[in-house]
Amino acid sequence: MSLKIYNTQTRTKEEFTPLNEGQVKLYVCGPTVYDFLHVGNFRGAIFFNLVRNWLEVLGYNVTYVYNYTDVDDKIINRSNQEKVTSEEIAEKYIAEFEKDYQSLKLRPHSKNPRVTEHMDDIIHYISDLIEKKHAYVISTDLGSDVYYDVKSYKDYGKLSNKNIDDMLTGSRAEVNQDKHHAADFALWKSAKPGEPSWTSPWGKGRPGWHIECSVMSHCLLGDQIDIHGGGLDLVFPHHENEIAQSEGHSGKTFVKYWMHNNMLEFGNQKMSKSLGNIRTGRSFIEEFNGEILKIMMLSHHYRSIIDFSEDQIHRVIGSLAKFYSALNLAEQILSTGIEFSQTDIPKKFKQLMEGSESRFQEALNDDFNTPEVFALFYEYLKSFNALCALPGKVSAQKMAVADAFTRFIKEKGKIMALFQENAYEYLRVLDDMLLKKSGLNRSEVDQLVSQRIEARNNKNFEESDRLRDQLNEMGISVMDRPDGTVWEVQK
Ligand SMILES: [Zn+2]
Repeated sequence: MSLKIYNTQTRTKEEFTPLNEGQVKLYVCGPTVYDFLHVGNFRGAIFFNLVRNWLEVLGYNVTYVYNYTDVDDKIINRSNQEKVTSEEIAEKYIAEFEKDYQSLKLRPHSKNPRVTEHMDDIIHYISDLIEKKHAYVISTDLGSDVYYDVKSYKDYGKLSNKNIDDMLTGSRAEVNQDKHHAADFALWKSAKPGEPSWTSPWGKGRPGWHIECSVMSHCLLGDQIDIHGGGLDLVFPHHENEIAQSEGHSGKTFVKYWMHNNMLEFGNQKMSKSLGNIRTGRSFIEEFNGEILKIMMLSHHYRSIIDFSEDQIHRVIGSLAKFYSALNLAEQILSTGIEFSQTDIPKKFKQLMEGSESRFQEALNDDFNTPEVFALFYEYLKSFNALCALPGKVSAQKMAVADAFTRFIKEKGKIMALFQENAYEYLRVLDDMLLKKSGLNRSEVDQLVSQRIEARNNKNFEESDRLRDQLNEMGISVMDRPDGTVWEVQK
């Protein structure tokens, strides 16, 4: 059974074979660092962390490059607004992104190159493209610009399936009458006064956006890479232009597999400034937390749109709480230390376990089908609850099932960067969110539960049942266990 990846370029699922045996070169376009990133930017960071982890599980040695765009119009505009340098803006938002990345507990990338560290490489690379007749120089009032000549590269449009002759109108934002073709794009732009600039053979200026990824992947990974990833919005023009630059430069196929993650929607609306529904990853993590963001992203297939409506978020919190509630119960069961062996596992649960390793592998090997992985997790959850969430003493059977359940969820969860939180503490966090949503708080629930315990101790069963019903109506389940009474928010 081998890994299959949906290749955007061929629009089919293809069997994955690396360029060099045992090694994978992975490049993902990282953020332009001029502000806190919106929540959608984290989809790629979370998803490609899984891609890297899974490739490693399959035995590959992965080099994962994720760049920071630290030279850009947006950074310059921001620095002008805030009256600080572009470097300060870039430094600040790289640090903020890295803080979010760490709070999501994602593994570091192999390399995080920045444009400013590769300026000489970029200038050499552009000179090569001019020499190879893939680029040309235009004089402007400010100096000289360099443009890529799309007509010089015969496969232009092969990723996005666009025909070069349909691109005659071009974008109005960047009209330069001297361009050879409307789709020609800037490799080097002459600097306006006061803008950050670097000395080049074409005068003072700075690189265009697309060239940086071609140059950084060339410098750090070589002319050919196995997987290039990014958001679906980057297919055109960014990735199309990367191909033209890289293949024009090396004469070799740049990327073997193109992978693109889809976008988010907010109650069936796209996120946009004009709708005023921009949400940053930071604000999401602060209001909810990183684990919830990860499960929001990974419980959907990476190529489908995710709805980030409040209802959807709360539904996901509810399911996450079910898992942590089971992990917490499993921990309590295991803490009794009763002896058990594999033979104590009931037949049905054993059957589930036997098929699960291959089901998990098949799901991820099928173009990272994470919803299928969650379906498997849910089966574990259901079977665990059916066997372990029953009143009565802890048995060797419960011990064996709790052990197998915890191992599976934690081990497989680790590959997805999920389910690694302390179950008891994290369940309280989730329950507090669910209580808040129902307009309740922990102390009033605790108070009613204490009253009920007192009634039971006084053998006032009528009152105890009444309080249980009252709690049930509030959405709280009360469980009398051998080690005492516990309560949980119904999920
Ligand atoms: Zn890029």
